[in-house]
Parts: sequence; C-alpha cells; structure tokens
Amino acid sequence: TAHVAIVARGLGLPLLGHVKNILSRVEPMDRIIVDGNNAACFVRPSDNFSHAFAKSLESNARKQAEYKKSRHRPTITRDNIAVELSINAGLLIDLKHLHETGAKGVGLYRTEIPFMMAQTYPDVETQTALYQKIFTELDDKPITFRTLDIGWDKAAPYLQNYHEENPAMGWRAIRIAMDRPFMLRQQLRAMLLAAEGRTFSVMFPMITTVDEFIQARQLLNYERDNLAAKGHAISDAIKTGAMLEVPALAFQLDNLLQEVDFLSIGSNDLHQFLFACDRGSPRLDGYYDSLSPAMLNFLKMIIAKTSTHNVALSVCGEMAGIPLVAMVMIGLGITKLSMAPPAIGPVSAMVRSLDSQFLPAFIDQICAGTGKTAQNDLMAFARDHGVQVA
Ligand code: PEP
Ligand code: MG
Repeated sequence: TAHVAIVARGLGLPLLGHVKNILSRVEPMDRIIVDGNNAACFVRPSDNFSHAFAKSLESNARKQAEYKKSRHRPTITRDNIAVELSINAGLLIDLKHLHETGAKGVGLYRTEIPFMMAQTYPDVETQTALYQKIFTELDDKPITFRTLDIGWDKAAPYLQNYHEENPAMGWRAIRIAMDRPFMLRQQLRAMLLAAEGRTFSVMFPMITTVDEFIQARQLLNYERDNLAAKGHAISDAIKTGAMLEVPALAFQLDNLLQEVDFLSIGSNDLHQFLFACDRGSPRLDGYYDSLSPAMLNFLKMIIAKTSTHNVALSVCGEMAGIPLVAMVMIGLGITKLSMAPPAIGPVSAMVRSLDSQFLPAFIDQICAGTGKTAQNDLMAFARDHGVQVA
C-alpha cells in the first residue's frame, strides 16, 4: 500500500520493488518480463516462456473485456444486497475509468499528487482550474475529495523539510492543515469555485480527535459563506466526512458520528497503525492480515456505531479492491467500497456471484478465533458457495 504502488495500480502499470542486485544482473537491451501480480521478474526469458506469458496476458485481457461488457449490470448480490462500487483516483487520467468500469462515482480523490509535482505551492487559480477539469470529466457522477494528505512519502518540495524519525505518524495530512489553515482554506475555496454550484463531498484525512474534524469543517463553512456572500453559486448539499485511519478515532465515535455526514475507512493507514506495522516495509509483508480477528472485530465495532447513528460508512483503502476481502466487508455490512479502477471488474463479478446469507455467522466464528488470518477458511467458504473471488 505504499503510494508509489497505489499510483501504479491505478494506471495499470506492473511495478516491482526491492529486486535485489537487479542492476548487476541485467544488461542494456535485455528483455525482461515484469509480473506485478506475482511479484516476480524474469530476465532474458526463453521464447517458450515468453510465449506462455503472452498467452496468460491475452487471457487477462479477455477477462478485462468481459468485465467491461458487464459494466452496466447492477452490482447486487444473489440475496439482493445492493453494493456501491466507486473508484479511487488521484490523476485526471484516472477518471476515464469511471465510465469504462461503470463505477458509481469517485469514492476517494487523492488531491495531493499535483501538489507533489509542483515546485511551488499551487495558488487558488491553479487549483480551481484543475478541479474544474475534474468536474467536467465526472459528467455529474458523485465525487468525494480527500483534502491534502501531504507529508511522509508524499513530500511537497516547498514545505519545510522537517526531519522526523517516523514521518508516517508525523506532521502530515490534517495536522499540517491545522497548523497552516490557509492551505486548507485555499484548497476548499478552489473546490467550491470549481464546482459552480454542483455538489460534492469532502473528507479529511488522518483525523485523530473530533475537534480536528469540527475545525476543518468550520474552515469549509467559512469559505462557503464567504463565496456565497460574493454571489457565487454554492450547493447547500455538500457533505463532509472523516477518514478513519487513526485507531484513536474509533473510541470517539459517539461524538464524531453526531458531526459527520459519513465515515470512510482508510484501511491502508488503519492497518499500519492498528498493527504497528509500517505499510512501506516489505519485511513486514504478510505479518499481519486484514482478515484477522483483530481487524474484523475492530471493524465490527465501527459498523455497530455507524449503524446506531445512521451514518454512511465506506471503505476506501486498497483492501476494498481485493474480491475476497470485499466479500467479507459485505458480510460485515459495509456496502460502499471504493477501489483502484482495475479492481472494479473483479469485485463486481464477486458481488454478483455472492449469496451472503451464511457469511455473517462464518465471520463471527473467525472473530472469535486466535489465528493470524482467516484467508484460507474464507477462500474455502467462497469456493463452497460459488463466490467468484479469484
Ligand atoms: C488509506 O490510508 O487507506 C487511504 C485511503 O489513504 P492513503 O492510502 O492515501 O494514505
Ligand atoms: Mg491514508
């Protein structure tokens, strides 16, 4: 879930990292096959191997074409649960997938990428022009903008280069916005101007206390009222939400849920903070699993609270795009999922093949267990119940 991997996944680019000594093993003009799905690369493959690999790529392309053909079919389980699938985006070119995949809208627009590419802080005009292009591409589909989450592995060259031992837990996201409110205000103003009266949703990243959310929303309200007073068209249906990424927030839900319109689980960060497990460390890959009692019990607690308070809940971290995990989310009761565009096809197919009636009891058993992951058991469940998760 490192951000470089997230961007590559969104673009459909195979990406491998930490291939030891690769540069001493390859020569210029060598043929290399990069198999991002299986974390392998093949240097100077034989013709036979290349041929077999090309066949497997063709079969993948056929599958993708089938997904594209079914993009207008509703994503409803066999037991009639409607599941809303949206895409995660961060670049304008990601938005073409909205229409190709039949996704409902953009569940997470990561706004920081243009800020990371610019040498100086983009002014309101520049930001407005960018958001205008986004609204045009949306063609009236709904969007949730995530306000700036810079810092850590998403450094912006013009922000103070401040050394921290653990920058993922450091000065990033809403913490920067609280200290530099003009940055958030300008970003929100640009969104409001670009929207020209259309509605949208805004969510704030790395919220740790309820007051942070309230202050961030106050900045939005301030910009909204200011622009309205100047005669700009402003929607009165703009929704504001918080990302649940920091476990501490889960223990303030009774207060938070009275304030927010929606809550979105940023499982990439939540996973790393819940398990004290750096999401960028390949050494920890596979140590802790989202399909473990710890994560599932944690999610159950959040789901119970959001349903008591009648607040919409979604998952927008990478795990939502893994069909097996998406199946479990539906079993738990989360029916709004946002994912990298290439995941929409496989997850839609899973949804349409799923009869979820026996799933909650099965998940309850897992929650009571002591294992590190229930992946194998859930795979077996999927196989036994004809759920398309592969
Ligand atoms: C997350 O943490 O799950 C998330 C969606 O935000 P990001 O991956 O950009 O940190
Ligand atoms: Mg995050």
